[in-house]
Amino acid sequence: MQTADVVIVGGGIVGSSIAYHLTAAGCRNVLVLERETHTGKGSTGKSMGGVRAQFSTPVNIQMSLYSIPFYAAFDEVMGHPAGYRPQGYLFMATSTAHMDYLRTNHAQQVVLGLKAASLLSGDEIRAMYPKLRGDDIIGGSFCSTDGFVDPYSAMTGFMAKAVENGATLWRDCEVTGINRDASGINGVETTKGSIATRTVVNAAGAWAAGVAKFGGIELPVEPLRRMLVPTEPFDEFPHTAPMIIDMSTGFHFRPEGRGFLLAWNDAEETPGFKMNFEPSFIEKILVHAADRVPCFEHVPVNPKRAWAGLYEMTPDHHPIIGPAHGLRGLYFANGFSGHGVMHAPATGKLTSDLILRGTSDIISDPRAFALERFADGRMIHETAVL
Ligand SMILES: Cc1cc2nc3c(=O)[nH]c(=O)nc-3n(C[C@H](O)[C@H](O)[C@H](O)COP(=O)(O)OP(=O)(O)OC[C@H]3O[C@@H](n4cnc5c(N)ncnc54)[C@H](O)[C@@H]3O)c2cc1C
Repeated sequence: MQTADVVIVGGGIVGSSIAYHLTAAGCRNVLVLERETHTGKGSTGKSMGGVRAQFSTPVNIQMSLYSIPFYAAFDEVMGHPAGYRPQGYLFMATSTAHMDYLRTNHAQQVVLGLKAASLLSGDEIRAMYPKLRGDDIIGGSFCSTDGFVDPYSAMTGFMAKAVENGATLWRDCEVTGINRDASGINGVETTKGSIATRTVVNAAGAWAAGVAKFGGIELPVEPLRRMLVPTEPFDEFPHTAPMIIDMSTGFHFRPEGRGFLLAWNDAEETPGFKMNFEPSFIEKILVHAADRVPCFEHVPVNPKRAWAGLYEMTPDHHPIIGPAHGLRGLYFANGFSGHGVMHAPATGKLTSDLILRGTSDIISDPRAFALERFADGRMIHETAVL
């Protein structure tokens, strides 16, 4: 029978980063199982690729303080491009409540050692981007090391290096069950047969709750559709722009190729495995786009190029990372709530540390993301979810 020291369920960016970090730490017999014939067909291939350290909770800031420098050094270390572009994230506030929120976050970020973030006045933002409608902007915050990566390329680089280090990737192989004995996990069932292992990592993205159920565990991870609209080539706004977030509506956009990628969180969206792009979304998002960026009023959009993907949401919008207490040998790396690409490097390191050493110094409390926090009433509060 096939055996592995660690089986990773899911070959997206999270599973790939975990495979890389495990093999880099010397654990060679790692088997990644991906049910699709190609990797990247889950959320990773649908992502906007934004990376930022401008968060409000210490754990999210710490995850970014590992991940962003990792992406900055990725090409050299992995011999493969991550496509990191430090063009920044610019949050724009139009209310004192939002400005106070940015001020509090900034103070927290400085305490944790983020040096590249600063607060801006409304006048500074209007001077930086005169093509934004700026009459109601009272200020904002900007971090120059935030920016974007190419999620598919980063995922491929992680996996290629993991394989070079001794890991194995099986595509077209779905995990259909988890086996156990008195000591805990002793294997998985797959469409390619049984595999003996004592350690399984659930990196199944939006499908993670189904995989956890194989082990008899209820995992509070829900799929939530998010849609992105790319514009056709458009030169009336600078392509050097950062990710720009209009906090009054949640509309945000960034340069992509010769055009721009537009995003907006539709509050009417309901959980479910909805993967289709809803054409009526284009009209809704263009209203917000033209309101904040008047030159977008006539921006050309081809609806056939727009797409939808799934966020993996948890009740407190923070991931679930670490061992399952109900089943020895099962680990979670799930529920990134919109941040799985930017936090994939830290997640790989944290998960690898927890499996191999039982602890980690990636975040102050390596148990902060434990599943038990929901039952124990220790939810983490973060309001900046994009
Ligand atoms: C529109 C959109 C925009 C986003 N923008 C950003 C952003 O700007 N920044 C950011 O950081 N994040 C963003 N995200 C979130 C990010 O893409 C995800 O958090 C991240 O890709 C999750 O990676 P993953 O590897 O956990 O999941 P996935 O990429 O979904 O991979 C999970 C894999 O598991 C496989 N699988 C599932 N069940 C099984 C099984 N039983 N057996 C074998 N294989 C299985 C699936 O086929 C899949 O390939 C965005 C997401 C969307 C949809």
